[in-house]
Amino acid sequence: MSDEEDHEQSAAALAASNAELRATLARMSEEHARDQAALLEQSRMLQILNQTGQSIASQLDLDRLLQTVTDAATALTGARFGAFFYNHVNEQGDVYLLYTLSGAPREAFEKFGYPRATAVFAPTFRGEAPVRSADITQDSRYGSMGPHHGMPPGHLPVRSYLAAAVKSRTGEVFGGLLFGHPDTGRFDERTEQLVVGVAAQAANAIDNARLYQAAQSQIANRERAELRLRDTDRRKDEFLATLAHELRNPLAPIRQAAMISQSSSATPEQKTWSHEVITRQVQHMSLLLDDLLDISRITRGTLELRKQHTELSVIVEAAVETARPAIDAKRHRLSVELPQVPVQLEADLLRLSQVLSNLLTNAAKYTDPEGQIRLVCEAIGGEVAIRVIDNGIGISPDALPNIFQMFSQVKTAQDRSDGGLGIGLALSRGLIALHSGRLEARSAGLGHGSEFCVHLPTSVNGTAEPAAQPAPAPTGNQPHRILVADDNVDAAESLAMLLRLDGHEVELATNGSDALQLFERIRPDIAILDIGMPGLNGYEVAQRIRGNGHKDTLLIAVTGWGQDADKARAAESGFDHHFTKPVEPAALSALLGR
Ligand code: ADP
Repeated sequence: MSDEEDHEQSAAALAASNAELRATLARMSEEHARDQAALLEQSRMLQILNQTGQSIASQLDLDRLLQTVTDAATALTGARFGAFFYNHVNEQGDVYLLYTLSGAPREAFEKFGYPRATAVFAPTFRGEAPVRSADITQDSRYGSMGPHHGMPPGHLPVRSYLAAAVKSRTGEVFGGLLFGHPDTGRFDERTEQLVVGVAAQAANAIDNARLYQAAQSQIANRERAELRLRDTDRRKDEFLATLAHELRNPLAPIRQAAMISQSSSATPEQKTWSHEVITRQVQHMSLLLDDLLDISRITRGTLELRKQHTELSVIVEAAVETARPAIDAKRHRLSVELPQVPVQLEADLLRLSQVLSNLLTNAAKYTDPEGQIRLVCEAIGGEVAIRVIDNGIGISPDALPNIFQMFSQVKTAQDRSDGGLGIGLALSRGLIALHSGRLEARSAGLGHGSEFCVHLPTSVNGTAEPAAQPAPAPTGNQPHRILVADDNVDAAESLAMLLRLDGHEVELATNGSDALQLFERIRPDIAILDIGMPGLNGYEVAQRIRGNGHKDTLLIAVTGWGQDADKARAAESGFDHHFTKPVEPAALSALLGR
């Protein structure tokens, strides 16, 4: 080989090795760039992971937490769309509640509804292994999804699909993280692992956020309960002050009238007047006490109604009669409108007329003199609406929701309340509820009058029976020998005096054992016994009287306890009748006259 040939050969070899070197260098720099890119990608992911971990660990606001998780996981996976769906299953078993979204407007999801419990979605919401598909449109599970068997119209263009369950340590599935991309093969095993990691972190954070929210709502509940308690306490204190005031009010005229009646210089007219004052004031006090007892029975659920077929007009008439003095005293005009056709109710006549007279009396109280009060009854469907409308002082919108609460009185109306305890409306609402009805109030505001409306179901069958008539007044009682026993000496003596005025022969005892001895000595026709007495109580005295063979004596219990259980106990002990204190003399007199 010539030198020239030799040289050419070496040059070619050099060129080849140069080219190889260049190719190697190019390859190396490509690999370097790839490594560099992978490194960068890795550090970006680490950074996202780190930031996500930090921010979700400290995030106690559930909404924000879910948004952070969805955003971070979408960035990590390189997905185009990401969503967190809450695990909320409806009765059909297939609705998941969309919570947060990343990379797509909400409408894009809402347009085609939430994922249904199909073969693709359900495993995620059951907490099973992640679902990853390089091309979901080619997936057999996807094709079986009715009704579209593929992508519904308007669906986001999803080919690559990845979903992981967000599951607490105790196994509760909070929801699922779902990711999509319009290109195929975008999610590899590493992406899946990343998502699983984020889902676990998110589950922990959701657990914490929920605990925090539960604690917060418990604190808020407790604060609300304390506030309510303080309010009830304040109203109770106000009520006690009002009660003391209301009970003391009638005492002054009673005491003065009693002194007038005692005075030797008082004329017969003055004495009669003072007696009327005492009767009126005592009646007022009894009404207050009756209301108090009723409200306590309603709150304890022990008030019982005596329902009967009744005609609405009878109830209205009784109510108007009771409220008439209050209406007339302020020269109000009252109009009553009844339905054309008689309306039958299955109701407690006394209780319903008590409600209506209470509403009418309130209308009279809270309306300036010469006002207009309307009572309008309308029967609509199976219901009757009874409205009491006045053109009085009205009720402000902020006071309106509270007027049915016990002991509530509107400050601005207090000077007109004219001896109310603030329980009338609470009692009325309770009584109407016991009749399966409702009582509502309306007012356009202060100075614009008020309207109270009672809605009651009407009776579908049966005709109204004639209303219970008051017992006829006794006409000339036959005299009896009566034993009165009460440890309250004044009560015993005044009752004895009244009975003696009716011509009866009366003996007194102030405790149970004396009553029993006296009974054996005088053998009365009638014994009126207090229940709470020292020594033997009234029940025991009655039992012994019956036990000693006195079957014909009329035994009457007089007690402050008037519930059905008390009456039943009195009957068991041998009593024939039961009266609640204070005994209405006319009622007792009517009984003795029979
Ligand atoms: P009372 O009349 O004894 O205060 P109620 O329970 O009957 O108690 O009524 C509660 C409060 O509702 C009253 O104190 C009054 O402020 C208000 N109220 C009731 N009826 C009317 C009405 N017709 N017009 C204006 N305010 C009313």
